[in-house]
Amino acid sequence: MKEIVKTNILRKIETKLYKQGLTERKAALIGVLDYKTKWNNSKNPHIKLCKDILEKTQKSAVIFSIPKEPYNTIINYLAEKSEGSIIPKDSETRLFLHEIPVASKFSSAKIIRLLKTKRFVVIPSSGIITTGSISLEQAFIYFSSICFSCFVKFFIDFLYKAVNRKIILKDSSVFKKAAGYLNTYPENTPQLLKGPFKTKDSIISAISEAGKLLIKNRLVDSCFGNISYIRNNDIYITQTSSYLDELKNNIDICPLDGSSCESITASSEFSTHKKILLENNAHCVLHGHPKFSVILSMFCEHYDCANKDNCNKFCLRKRHINDIPIVSGEIGSGKYGINKTVPKALKESTGVIVYGHGVFTSSKIDFNSAFDTLLKIEKKCRQRYFDIILNSSGKDTTDLTN
Ligand SMILES: [Zn+2]
Ligand SMILES: [Zn+2]
Repeated sequence: MKEIVKTNILRKIETKLYKQGLTERKAALIGVLDYKTKWNNSKNPHIKLCKDILEKTQKSAVIFSIPKEPYNTIINYLAEKSEGSIIPKDSETRLFLHEIPVASKFSSAKIIRLLKTKRFVVIPSSGIITTGSISLEQAFIYFSSICFSCFVKFFIDFLYKAVNRKIILKDSSVFKKAAGYLNTYPENTPQLLKGPFKTKDSIISAISEAGKLLIKNRLVDSCFGNISYIRNNDIYITQTSSYLDELKNNIDICPLDGSSCESITASSEFSTHKKILLENNAHCVLHGHPKFSVILSMFCEHYDCANKDNCNKFCLRKRHINDIPIVSGEIGSGKYGINKTVPKALKESTGVIVYGHGVFTSSKIDFNSAFDTLLKIEKKCRQRYFDIILNSSGKDTTDLTN
């Protein structure tokens, strides 16, 4: 039985890496250590190194793969320019990664030494190794967040360079290559289940459907993002660290009177959802991490602003992208928690972008308009991004904008 479970988790993660556009099909070497090591592909040439990693670094799981394009191009470029580590500034980095160590060359001894104290490493031209100390899921989330954070860093850095006319030839060739690999968004927003939802089953189906579509359209990765719905005195919300494309058994029901303690496993953004649902007369809330919304939220033209290193927590300015507000705030309900900024912004808008983090949208009856708003915000941000590049370079990049 145990054997079957292990093999299933290896296949599951291999499939997730592929489906979320993080690796080519079956490209990753994935291993877990229990009483003995299990591999998804025992013929992979890196098996010896990965075996040594598991044995010598006290980790229980490992993933080693070249990431799929455009991540591969982007990460190699950032790694080459790094001095030992890549340091993105988005919220997934702040929360999970802190910094991404880079090995200067492919040396097994060096990689193992590094992984004794680090959880992952980028090896230029060879790929990314991520590990989990207690589960394979950890290694998967690190792999996904490294791709996300490097993507965001690359495009925001390029944007600042473009407007300041500091682009060199190498930058623009990498940019063109990376931009050429961007996924396309559906021209029309997909139709979701129609509300209002009156039964537990129909609510769970509606939340599950919205989650699957967020993942499918690359509006959020791995276990990030969260979704909620309110019916009478119950808030239905996705559990913390659940995969949005596997929600069926991962939705908590939290009564407003606090009679159940399920909100402990509920999303870390529960208090933000609750406020939106109660104070804004909304029934549905969606939260994703769409990349160009995150990138543009970090682009502020007040280059010399003394507060610019704190804008993730509090920004001195009122910022917008078209009519969509950008707010600051940290995850949770602390002093600078987004529960103090996001619900307020959603009183006047159907969507809000959180600096360096993601997008929240809400709607009244079902998830159709919340999903439509989220997708449109991301499309608008991507378009705006390439418009700014175009205006600052004078060259035609519209063919890169999808
Ligand atoms: Zn988030
Ligand atoms: Zn600011």
